[in-house]
Amino acid sequence: MATVGVIGAGVMGKDVAITCAANGYDVILSDHDPDVLAAAPRDLRQLVRKFRMMSPAAAAWKADEILGRIRYGADLGELAGADWIVENIVEDLAAKERLYLALRDVCGESVRIAVNTSCISITKLAACTPRPQNVVGIHFMNPVPLLECAEVVRGYHTSDDTIKQAEEFVRSLGKRSIVVNDMPGFVSNRLSHLFMNEAAFLVHDGVAGPEQVDAIFKLGYGHKMGPLETADLIGLDTVVNSLNVLYEEFQDSKFRACPTLKKMVAAGLLGRKSGQGFYTYAAR
Ligand code: NAD
Repeated sequence: MATVGVIGAGVMGKDVAITCAANGYDVILSDHDPDVLAAAPRDLRQLVRKFRMMSPAAAAWKADEILGRIRYGADLGELAGADWIVENIVEDLAAKERLYLALRDVCGESVRIAVNTSCISITKLAACTPRPQNVVGIHFMNPVPLLECAEVVRGYHTSDDTIKQAEEFVRSLGKRSIVVNDMPGFVSNRLSHLFMNEAAFLVHDGVAGPEQVDAIFKLGYGHKMGPLETADLIGLDTVVNSLNVLYEEFQDSKFRACPTLKKMVAAGLLGRKSGQGFYTYAAR
């Protein structure tokens, strides 16, 4: 079976690693933070347990088999033999550019690189690599094992063959691809960050509390989650970083991040991952 190198062991990287391993891939999970890597095996076991309870499709998962297919490594060199690399590091253009430059020395000619970014241009990141035709956006949705599609993003130089391989890869993970063209935020986040940000402005302006805002989305519009619950799930730091990317790229004030969101991030209220955001979560 093919090997997937997953870079970044945060919210998304852990989910992507589990999803790939659950579908038979060997996985190398990498992160530059030794504390994150040290905690990853325990975090992954807890996540597998949670997904098995949440999803009938995951109920038959064998935790030891899945976790046994995942290796951990701090050194990018360990990813040299991977067939696919899925990059999930922090939503920061400069950090991602540095990583793609470092990957030049690691990736062989045939490796395909999937960028899992919320908003950053695939074309820009592909330009840091020697083979931009091999780079494609695969925007996985959170939580990855439970959701049915991934947005596959065609960068300026992405080849038809890479798109085809990305669609096959996504299919092999039990998901449907929706192929779109590269533009910051693609389809999903250009839309969702507007409504999450405006929901935060409603709280900021004292129009309603988080519960009321989310209840209108769930009970009135039939959404499974409200925009502020979604922001907490994504991570408020990632939401603010993504809004900053959209604001910078489009030079459009509709993407300016709500000051309350920025203040919450400065105070360490990052949502589910920190235990506190618009809502309070039980300690892990
Ligand atoms: P996160 O902050 O939870 O995790 C990021 C991880 O990357 C951290 O563990 C950090 O230590 C690691 N990292 C940072 N720089 C690194 C480097 N140079 N080398 C190796 N590891 C590095 O972030 P996340 O929520 O997992 O988001 C990751 C990416 O996925 C972002 O680009 C984000 O926009 C995108 N994304 C997020 C969501 C979501 O719901 N959170 C959904 C889709 C896409």
